[in-house]
Amino acid sequence: LFVVFEGGEGAGKSTQLAALAERLRGQGRDVVVTREPGATGVGERIRSLVLDTVGADAPSPRAEALLYAADRAHHVATVVRPALVRGAVVISDRYVDSSLAYQGAGRTLPVEEVSWLSSWATGGLKPDLVVLLDVDPRTGLSRVESRRQGADRLEAESIAFHERVRYAFLDLAAADPKRYLVLDASRPAEEIAAAVGRRVDEFLVN
Ligand code: C5P
Repeated sequence: LFVVFEGGEGAGKSTQLAALAERLRGQGRDVVVTREPGATGVGERIRSLVLDTVGADAPSPRAEALLYAADRAHHVATVVRPALVRGAVVISDRYVDSSLAYQGAGRTLPVEEVSWLSSWATGGLKPDLVVLLDVDPRTGLSRVESRRQGADRLEAESIAFHERVRYAFLDLAAADPKRYLVLDASRPAEEIAAAVGRRVDEFLVN
């Protein structure tokens, strides 16, 4: 089972990812928690290239899209697929939808091209479930501490950018409702965790 958490800045993905992992481990399952970008050695270097650079030093939109795709290709090949093959539950903090939302809608690259690039990078691997933690960008950004990695870069992006990202995620969910669980990230964390747990249990009992 491959579960992905998506959402804008400050949506609370890390908290929910950890809660789900704990729940599944409590059921005795083999769980792999991972993330994009930066889950591997190669990925960590790419993460730093895309997140620690601002202004003239930052990669151009197409270069950025290729860097995320490279991170993802390596991540899928070395972490995600091997774990799925041995029967583990893989929970990833971000995946293809982040590229469609950030590089596509956010940076205004053609979404079909970013989608094609992503399928090439992943060999077509799709998540069984995407949990979208939907948050208003103003609320989300105010929750993000300024010391975290990429904070300077975040400040450089406008609210309009984050609004485009938000609606791109919501459109993706609306287009494929069976694969998505959309939750209001302003709800209490325990309530969100319970809703995610119920949905994931449905997959695991069937
Ligand atoms: O989820 P996390 O906080 O680790 O994401 C780090 C940053 O990477 C986010 O601020 C997001 O803007 C950016 N990102 C991106 N495109 C992706 C994945 C992440 O711009 N495909």
